[in-house]
Amino acid sequence: VVILGIETSCDDTAAAVVRGNGEILSQVVSSQADLLARYGGVAPKMAEEAHIVAIDKVVQQALDNANLAAQDLSAVAATIGPGLSLCLRVGVCKARRIAGMHNLPIVGIHHMEAHALVARLVEKDLHFPFLALLISGGHNLLILARDLGHYVQLGTTIDDAIGEAYDKTARWLGLDMKKGGGPALEELAREGDADSIKFSIPMRQHKDCNFSYAGLKTQVRLAIESRKICTENNPISSANQDDRSSRADIAASFQRVAVLHLEDRCQRAIEWALKIEPSINSLVVSGGVASNQYVRTRLSHVVNNSGLRLVCPPPSLCTDNGVMIAWTGIEHFLAGRFDPPPPANEPENYLVDLRPRWPLGEEYSQGRSEAR
Ligand code: ATP
Ligand code: FE
Repeated sequence: VVILGIETSCDDTAAAVVRGNGEILSQVVSSQADLLARYGGVAPKMAEEAHIVAIDKVVQQALDNANLAAQDLSAVAATIGPGLSLCLRVGVCKARRIAGMHNLPIVGIHHMEAHALVARLVEKDLHFPFLALLISGGHNLLILARDLGHYVQLGTTIDDAIGEAYDKTARWLGLDMKKGGGPALEELAREGDADSIKFSIPMRQHKDCNFSYAGLKTQVRLAIESRKICTENNPISSANQDDRSSRADIAASFQRVAVLHLEDRCQRAIEWALKIEPSINSLVVSGGVASNQYVRTRLSHVVNNSGLRLVCPPPSLCTDNGVMIAWTGIEHFLAGRFDPPPPANEPENYLVDLRPRWPLGEEYSQGRSEAR
C-alpha cells in the first residue's frame, strides 16, 4: 500500500507519499509564512489563492521525490476538515482530479485525527487506547483515542487555542513573524526570567479538562502596555538592550504559565483516562505547539510521574504536514474505510464533501459516567 496525502486546511500547502509500513517516501510543504507575517493572520481568500498557486507543484514534487507516478498509488487521502472551506476545497479537488484520472479510491481525513495518529507512524508499538493532547493554532484538545475512528473528547478550549496565544504574544512583542510566532517566542523566552511576571494560571478553580487562553492573552497585553515597551510597529531588532530583556521576561513568563495550564489539564486527563481505559500507557502530544522544546520537556515530567510514556512526533510532523494525512489515509484504507474513485470527467463545480466544522469524537461528560 502506498498513499499520497494532501493537506490544505489552513495556511500550508503540503503533500507526502507514505508506504503502508510507515516509510516516508517524500514530504513537501509550501508555507505562507510571508503572507501571514505581512497581513497578521490568515485571510481565507488570500490563503486560497496561495494554495491554488502552489498545489500542482507541491503534489508533483511529492510524487517525483517518491519516484512514483500517480498510477502507482493505492489511494489518495486529503484533509476534508476542520478548517477553512475555501482552502480545504483546493486540496480535495486536487485529490479528486488525480483519483478520477487514475481510478483511485479517496480517503477523506480529519485534520486533528491526523495530528494524533501520526504518532503511530513514529512509534510502531503505540497501540489503542491512548491519550492525546493536540495543541495547535486553532485547537486545544484532550482526546482519548479508544480505537481507530473512535475518540472521546475529554477537554477542549472554551475560547482560544494555545498556538493562537503564542502567535498574538509574539506579534505584540514585535517579533519576527516570518519565523512563525511560536518559534520566535520560544527563542526569545530562553533569554528571559520566567518568574518575573506572575500571570495567573487559567481555570485552576474548574475541575475539568477544558482550556482557556483568552484571559492570559489579556494579561500579557496589559503587561506590555504597562511597561510602555515595544509594539508591532517597533520590531525587536530595533529595540535597545533593556527593552529586549523586558520583552524576553514577558515571553518567558507567558510561556511558563501557558504551559503550566497544559500540565494541570494533562494531569487530570490522565486520571480520567485511566478510569475509562485502565490499559492506557501513552500520552501523545502533537500539533504545531508540540514542536516547542519547553513544552516537550515540561510535559515529559508530568507523564513520567504518572508512569506513562510520552510520544511526541519530531517537529516536522507536529506542524501541519502531508505525512500525517497520508498515514491516517493508510490507517483508514487498511480498515476498509474509503470512498470509491470519482468519475474521471467530474465537472469543475462538483460539490465536494467538506467539513469545515467537524468535532473529533463524542464529548465526555464526567457527571454522566460517574452516575452510571
Ligand atoms: P489546527 O491544527 O488547529 O487546524 P494549524 O493547522 O494552523 O491549526 P499547526 O501547524 O498544527 O496549526 O500549528 C501551528 C501553530 O503552532 C501556530 O499557532 C504556531 O505558532 C504554533 N507553533 C509552531 N511552532 C511552535 C513553537 N516552537 N512553540 C510554540 N508554538 C509553536
Ligand atoms: Fe494543524
